[in-house]
Amino acid sequence: SPLPSHDPEPGRVRVAVRLRPRNAADLSDADYPDCVEIQPELKKLKLRKNNWSAEYYRFDEVFAESASQKRVYEVVAKPVVESVLDGYNGTVMAYGQTGTGKTYTLGRLGKDDESERGIMVRALEDIITNASSTTDCIEISYLQLYMESIQDLLAPEKTSIPIVEDGRTGEVSVPGATVVKIQNLDQFVQLMQIGEANRHAANTKLNTESSRSHAILMVFVRRSVPDQEGSDVSLRETHNKTGRPGHHIPTIRKSKLLIVDLAGSERLDKSGSEGHLVEEAKFINLSLTSLGKCINALAENSPHIPTRDSKLTRLLRDSFGGSARTSLIVTIGPSSRHHAETTSTVMFGQRAM
Ligand code: ADP
Ligand code: MG
Repeated sequence: SPLPSHDPEPGRVRVAVRLRPRNAADLSDADYPDCVEIQPELKKLKLRKNNWSAEYYRFDEVFAESASQKRVYEVVAKPVVESVLDGYNGTVMAYGQTGTGKTYTLGRLGKDDESERGIMVRALEDIITNASSTTDCIEISYLQLYMESIQDLLAPEKTSIPIVEDGRTGEVSVPGATVVKIQNLDQFVQLMQIGEANRHAANTKLNTESSRSHAILMVFVRRSVPDQEGSDVSLRETHNKTGRPGHHIPTIRKSKLLIVDLAGSERLDKSGSEGHLVEEAKFINLSLTSLGKCINALAENSPHIPTRDSKLTRLLRDSFGGSARTSLIVTIGPSSRHHAETTSTVMFGQRAM
């Protein structure tokens, strides 16, 4: 399929870093001063190791703690949303240690204060506004991936949902998952609330925390575009069999957007003393490690992207690299207490650059 014309580097994962504001714990932690400095004009991040040494990392964008939800959306997610509206698949992911702002950045609903809305709500708002309510169709599924098993957050009784890949087109789907047609933004926000409640209940039952699982919002967009030169030939031919010659037959353009709130990136092997936690750690490490390998392979323009190794990367397969547009937002906290975790988080993001 053609590449998005506005994309000078197709396939590469765009990476932004976002620094969370200091919280009460950071402020009261006198032994551990801040170790992060954002240099927005240089798009650099300075990580101080001690009084004598620091490391610098450059990204596509760096957001200081003062960055608004609106600005983060516009820089990180809006280009992906626009590309999805143009008929390409896309992915926005958040990666970082638990407590650094992944869910705030992606999933905040902002019911009391619209300025607090995160990427999911803003993306749906843009998609709803730009699609025609009479000829286009917007649908969502909302899933949790835990221990290499997919659960439906909109129908919690559905567990172990399989991933299906079309051998001919490479299209990835999760046909067992609930799909809901979106009519307006309020309805979407209500669904997300139901999904969050289901996620909480499921994790209580599994005796785990939501930080151990990935939450995946899938948005399916089907747009009816006027038939034109250069539009998808196979689809046009299908329509022409039933339509009269010379008739103006619209082409249906399908695309999807994945918004992925990844499991916490903290190393679990240290904390995992109980058997269940050790197993959990293995699976979380598996999917995040395999995601890292794919991001790395894309950055190196490798012809082989190893997406087979985990359920997470299998789900992302057709929305990642190639003609799909992908953004990764790496979230970090300011405190030197977490210097090691912050460094490893930042290094993960560097692998895409
Ligand atoms: P994670 O999902 O990575 O575990 P959360 O998104 O739950 O982290 O954030 C942890 C806490 O920090 C929450 O109380 C959240 O509201 C707050 N927080 C995170 N990022 C920001 C931010 N940029 N501005 C204000 N509060 C934030
Ligand atoms: Mg979270």
